[in-house]
Amino acid sequence: MTRRRWIADSWGEGTASLTGEQASHLIRVLRAQPGTEYDIVAGDRVWHGVIVGISGDAVRFNLIAEVQADPALPITLLLSIFKFDRLEWAIEKGTELGIERIVPIIARRSEKHLAQSAQNRVDRWRRIARESAKQSRRSDIPVVDDVLPLKIAARQTSDVVRLLLAEQECSTTLRNAVEEAIRNAGAEMPAIRMAVGPEGGWTAEEEALFDAEGWKSVSLGPRILRAETAAITATAVVAALLE
Ligand code: SAM
Repeated sequence: MTRRRWIADSWGEGTASLTGEQASHLIRVLRAQPGTEYDIVAGDRVWHGVIVGISGDAVRFNLIAEVQADPALPITLLLSIFKFDRLEWAIEKGTELGIERIVPIIARRSEKHLAQSAQNRVDRWRRIARESAKQSRRSDIPVVDDVLPLKIAARQTSDVVRLLLAEQECSTTLRNAVEEAIRNAGAEMPAIRMAVGPEGGWTAEEEALFDAEGWKSVSLGPRILRAETAAITATAVVAALLE
């Protein structure tokens, strides 16, 4: 039987508690009672837990045994700001697919009014990632960074493989680039950072900037995908190759 999973708000040696919305849902909607068993995510570990106390708006668990859990995939998605409902969809599905981090970025062609209000949405995006992580039984929640200007996000240096999704690229496919990265990484799993453009695509200056920062342009095929479709498709391709 698959137990429903909750993400602990606080935990200690052998115990964990839920408070706030999760506890309220458990108490009022599911009418949980002491003795009911659930899976509890505490930090980066998952436990088989049993309710031992309900008081006010808090639910306390004893953690009985650790449950095997899969870690996130080393995939970071730089998502240009595009229509919020579609961006949220990309965050939710990316979380289901196992991504580790989302970096919202302001690109030249991100719509101005969306770019201006994006930072106010970050808490909501973090909640979406958290709910999606719970629903897809992840043991961790992807990090959603504060909104960054593209210039800064592109510049962050590290030894990750950096791939720019670009619909006009016709020689290198995402699949080929990731297969090469896997071969080069030997026994390790390569860390992959991918950037998806806004509805209007990247400007030539942005492409030049990514290029100067060592990003490789890759294609998802000859059809032009909407930004959110590109984000999810790219994540699914990389996840399938890494796993
Ligand atoms: N330049 C386009 C336009 O407005 O006509 C389309 C931009 S597309 C809707 C948004 C983003 O999705 C692109 O910047 C790119 O990152 C990604 N994308 C869409 N189709 C792609 C493809 N076939 N290969 C790689 N990336 C793609």
